[in-house]
Amino acid sequence: MNIQKRDAVDFGDAILKMESISEKAVQEHLKLYKGYVTKYNAIQESLGKLTDEDYAGANQTYSLIRELKVEQTFAWGGIVNHEIYFAHLGGTGGSPGGDIGVQIKKDFGSYEAYKKDMKATALAARGWVWTAWNHGEGRLINYLGDAQNSYPVWGATPIVALDTYEHAYFMDFGADRGSYIDVFFDNMKWDVVERSMGHCLMCCCSEKMESKKDDCACGGSCGHDK
Ligand code: FE
Repeated sequence: MNIQKRDAVDFGDAILKMESISEKAVQEHLKLYKGYVTKYNAIQESLGKLTDEDYAGANQTYSLIRELKVEQTFAWGGIVNHEIYFAHLGGTGGSPGGDIGVQIKKDFGSYEAYKKDMKATALAARGWVWTAWNHGEGRLINYLGDAQNSYPVWGATPIVALDTYEHAYFMDFGADRGSYIDVFFDNMKWDVVERSMGHCLMCCCSEKMESKKDDCACGGSCGHDK
């Protein structure tokens, strides 16, 4: 089995000096992120050491391969979600301009309507809310997640990730998740989100980028065949 070990990303100092989200809260949050990386690597190693006996013992109620396969998705989600989250924080927020501003307006009506939907989705979630580019529908959708690995949406790429686990806000906001969500947007780096959406639009299924389908970013994973 091909094992690919991950290293934790260094997100720089900007996320340690944010408006209303304390350095202490971010430092503790980064420890959790690094824990996902460590455990993901450990799971890879364990998968690589599975014996014939382990494979023969596969069972849906309890078995080593079941536990490893389930937690592989949890740990991977913990890595990807936090890498999106920290990479687009440390900015100055505000209403996004550029292509991302245009797309938000197209898909939600206005930035205010987008934020209203994000905030309500985040208040209804137990773990995450993502704004994702749905490659099949060619639009942005806010998806709800209850954990690092739920609920997966195939053919959609998250470009905004908002952590709604208590560890993300309890230290600074207590139970006031709504204020944390507002502050999250006040600290956004919309240029990072704009770049992420640009990568999505390089997908071969985008008519806009038809001339560049040889450079397709999705590698065919969107399911479209042009
Ligand atoms: Fe988190």
